[in-house]
Amino acid sequence: MSVLRFENVSKQYPGGHAALAEVSFDVAEGEMLFVTGHSGAGKSTLLKLIHLSERPTRGAVLFAGRNLLKVRGSRVPLHRREVGAVHQDHRLLTDRSVFENVSLPLILRGERRGDIAKRVREVLARLGLGHRERALPTELSAGEQQRVGIARAIVAEPKLLVADEPTGNLDPTLAAEIMALFASMPERGTSVLVVSHDLALIRRMRKRVLILDHGKLVDDISPADLAE
Ligand code: ADP
Ligand code: ADP
Repeated sequence: MSVLRFENVSKQYPGGHAALAEVSFDVAEGEMLFVTGHSGAGKSTLLKLIHLSERPTRGAVLFAGRNLLKVRGSRVPLHRREVGAVHQDHRLLTDRSVFENVSLPLILRGERRGDIAKRVREVLARLGLGHRERALPTELSAGEQQRVGIARAIVAEPKLLVADEPTGNLDPTLAAEIMALFASMPERGTSVLVVSHDLALIRRMRKRVLILDHGKLVDDISPADLAE
């Protein structure tokens, strides 16, 4: 079953040319892939269509079999809770502890306090942040902050994790660490879509790569193609 499906998706901003043109692809359950392309290629637009901060001009985006065109405005927050998002600047709440930041998605879902604490501690332990739960984001290193952002994105076990240049601010060692973390998500049933400029990093990961160019999906490279 596919988690995400783009069917002939085109997006034209008012007054603009096509930011995306007839883009079609499928992301399977438990698949990890990269989306790359130069500046202006349409990567952010693709993410915005997934988050429902923009709507396609033509075509359809399906998430877990549901056509996102049918998700009305009042339902958008519910949809976003099903997609974990990691940002380059991690967007943590600076006046809340690590524990509180990571709890947030579960609080929004109305889960019980005892369950929340258990789940948050599990995720923090898994990401090597168990000893940092009381810290404020500003007291953490860049790599730790990014891991807190990832913890928050995965704590509610989303079907899809979407990361926008997640290693942009990190040194190569930390970037590799974060990528290894993403690569471990699929075995837990979470698909992972990473937007990145970092071709060296993408090559090393040996995953599927979608290449956008001027809004067109010009290549969809499978790991087997990268193997030689
Ligand atoms: P990328 O993330 O790959 O840099 P974008 O999706 O941001 O690409 O942009 C794709 C194209 O759409 C670019 O030509 C950009 O200028 C245009 N674009 C993006 N957002 C808007 C907007 N809100 N209004 C008009 N044009 C936009
Ligand atoms: P930009 O690159 O212009 O910041 P984004 O694509 O990152 O735009 O996001 C557009 C808007 O949608 C932002 O207000 C962002 O906070 C929000 N957003 C993006 N992804 C999610 C998500 N998974 N859950 C909740 N809000 C999101």
